[in-house]
Amino acid sequence: MKERYCLKCGHPLKKGEACCGKCHFENKEQTLEAMDIHAYKQLCYGNLTSCRERKNRALAFYVISGIALILGLVFLVLSFRYNVIRVRVFTPLSAEFFFCVFFLALFLFSVVYASLMLVPSLSRKKYFEGMLRKKK
Ligand SMILES: [Zn+2]
Repeated sequence: MKERYCLKCGHPLKKGEACCGKCHFENKEQTLEAMDIHAYKQLCYGNLTSCRERKNRALAFYVISGIALILGLVFLVLSFRYNVIRVRVFTPLSAEFFFCVFFLALFLFSVVYASLMLVPSLSRKKYFEGMLRKKK
């Protein structure tokens, strides 16, 4: 079954749950049917706006992760240094390798964080667009 969300605050509702656990708004079919169309649409558009903001924040984190990946790879290349006999050797105790690990960790964190923000916001957006279409 598809996930349902609270119309007022956008909090996910558990299966069969009508009253929101966060804001105590009644999300029953009868309550939503009886609601004023203007207030109903206002709540739907408010939720869609918050979905868009979350999506934009997620995209910003994808950009940050891209920059962090490039910087991490640059520092990885820089952590291979020439030794006294002019041979390139990997130096894991160098500052370059430390920055490489830092930027690659930042890349991983940003990708995971952005994905965790983007995926629920897309399903939430789909849900509220369906709610808007349902009541005309
Ligand atoms: Zn709620």
